[in-house]
Amino acid sequence: MTVTTTKASENIESYISLISHEPPEDLKVEKKNAQPKDGKYKFLFWEFETPVIWGNVILITIFHIIAVYALFEHFIVIRTPGIILYCLILGGICGFGITAGAHRYWTHRSYKAKLPLRVILLICYSCAGQNSIVQWVRDHRVHHKFSETDADPHNSNRGFFFSHVGWLMTKKHPEVLSKGKTIDCSDLLEDPLVAFHERHFMLFKILCCFIVPTIIPPFLYGETWYTSIMGVCFVRYVVSLNSTWAVNSFAHFYGNKPYDKRIRPVENTGVSLFAMGEGYHNYHHTFPWDYRAAELGMALNITTLWLDFFGKIGWAYDLKVGSDELKESMIMNHGDGTYHKKIEDTKSE
Ligand SMILES: [Zn+2]
Ligand SMILES: [Zn+2]
Repeated sequence: MTVTTTKASENIESYISLISHEPPEDLKVEKKNAQPKDGKYKFLFWEFETPVIWGNVILITIFHIIAVYALFEHFIVIRTPGIILYCLILGGICGFGITAGAHRYWTHRSYKAKLPLRVILLICYSCAGQNSIVQWVRDHRVHHKFSETDADPHNSNRGFFFSHVGWLMTKKHPEVLSKGKTIDCSDLLEDPLVAFHERHFMLFKILCCFIVPTIIPPFLYGETWYTSIMGVCFVRYVVSLNSTWAVNSFAHFYGNKPYDKRIRPVENTGVSLFAMGEGYHNYHHTFPWDYRAAELGMALNITTLWLDFFGKIGWAYDLKVGSDELKESMIMNHGDGTYHKKIEDTKSE
């Protein structure tokens, strides 16, 4: 046996030189998540701060193209009232799952819910076909805590398109990931219903968002399969997604700030129309624990009307509301001065 002896100092030196230098150029080394030299990812004339997820870009684009085609063919040109009414009801069910469930209940805990209501929220949420509850809640809690910073998943400082849908087409900013880990979501999985949903998330999504709602119209009133698929899987799904996304984009760009002018979220009635009352976003970011997610415009706040109904029958309780004193104090000290004008407009409506 030959034993090669080398001085210890030589060994350490050669080892350090090996580990403290970049590998030679000719050595093939794969770099995961490599950063471009100028800090931007480019595609044609567009620049991105994080890598593009092309699978999502293609999928989202295809869904939108088919939805627009189907909208004109079936909802505007041919006009099939049955599927229009059905999709409006289904859209309302999805909206309730997102606004009353994922947003006001699971994310903000703005009220408490008994088992029957929690089951309803879970099914309605599944019909909307969005991310898992834990993903949704983590994204939204980070959005509130680190609003308009790199840690905000749909940071509106990165532009309207990014805050609307672009954030789903690129990898998350490293700050979103690191700050996201500091957000406590342990309360979610303490609910066995949410834990069960999390384990079978994809099954719930496929069944509740696509298969079951598509099967119903042909059996219920003899709708054609083609119209049902186009209406339910494309038009309703895409409109429902855009209604949610509009809160992150339109309601962070266009509107007034009666409660706190120091923040970017605004009051936007148009968004409330599509998002069942969630467009009054300046109020919501100022008082995120208020179960109404708004103070004014209750006629459009369909979710609050439903929660009030569930409150009356005892399935929803401990519904939190901002006190008048607190609200007045914010309006006087931090509002943009549009509050009282808004009250007059609301009264005259
Ligand atoms: Zn927001
Ligand atoms: Zn919120």
